[in-house]
Amino acid sequence: MQKKIFVVLLLFTYFVQSIMAQTDIKIISSIDLASIPAGTTQHYYLHLINNGLGQAVYIPIMIAKGVEEGPVFGMVAAIHGNELNGIPIIQNVFKQIDAQQLKGTLIGVPGVNVVSMDRDRRRFVDEEDLNRNFPGKEKGNRSQQYVYKIKEKLLPHFDYLVDMHTASFGRLNSLYVRADLSNDLIAQMANLQDCDIILDSKGVPSTGDGIAMLRTFRAEAMLQGTPTITVEYGNPQVYQADIIARGEKGMLNIMRWLEMLDEPIEQFPTPPIVCKKSYWIYVEEGGLLEVPVALTQILKKGELIGVVKNLFGEVIQAYYAPEDGIVIGKSSNPVNMDGGRILHLGIIK
Ligand SMILES: [Zn+2]
Repeated sequence: MQKKIFVVLLLFTYFVQSIMAQTDIKIISSIDLASIPAGTTQHYYLHLINNGLGQAVYIPIMIAKGVEEGPVFGMVAAIHGNELNGIPIIQNVFKQIDAQQLKGTLIGVPGVNVVSMDRDRRRFVDEEDLNRNFPGKEKGNRSQQYVYKIKEKLLPHFDYLVDMHTASFGRLNSLYVRADLSNDLIAQMANLQDCDIILDSKGVPSTGDGIAMLRTFRAEAMLQGTPTITVEYGNPQVYQADIIARGEKGMLNIMRWLEMLDEPIEQFPTPPIVCKKSYWIYVEEGGLLEVPVALTQILKKGELIGVVKNLFGEVIQAYYAPEDGIVIGKSSNPVNMDGGRILHLGIIK
């Protein structure tokens, strides 16, 4: 009897160990794809910076290297530390990949801004937005050095890239893609997503005749010649099961299109709505905002989109759609001073 219990306990221990995290993850200071054995999946901690206690700060790197030559496809999540839906998308895509059946290399970074993730913040420790700080500076301030290292240690490896975001704090997003549709490869990547909306956006903000001094991760990647899309996966600081499942499909589709996976591309029943431009509509006189429209709702010019009230429930001002469009994102936080955001209106192509 005692022997039986012992065997059961032993089996249970093996089971628990098999589902527990790997504790001996290899620490690296740079990514060397050539040194990775073909047909294997590896997990690494990439040393990016040191924190204020002199301790190393690592970012997680997942690499599946196929058995045949092919493109390197990268997925990077959470450059804004409270934008989390991309993390399980990357984890789940890797679960579905068998490196022995793969052509090319898949790289996932399920949390590139670990510093802010650990603080539940969008912005970096110095309150800078990392996604407006590329190309960074080798000897710059805190966010500049962090960004510089992302640019130097990660970016050169990718042939194709998806930069994974969500809405910011106090807002809700549909599942939408930002992509430069004038570039055929990028347009293809966008059209392979199970998304609600595709927003045509250059991603390389210009200050007139030159390239902006400070730019997004996508803009930096595109300047380096890497076809890149940004995908906005719903809402901040949550895992949304439906959005995550749709996100996985889009990533697998890109891999099928690149012939990294020998499978047919999945077609989705509802084609996305393509927008030629978009803008936010802001509160003019602050107060408590109600937004009586839903995400992805099609709006007619003149439709009610927001009501701002004072603390007694009296209407300060009502807002109406300035033109026909679609709701890409909206405020979820009632408290809005002058300039608070009401909704993100997409103008359909
Ligand atoms: Zn973001």
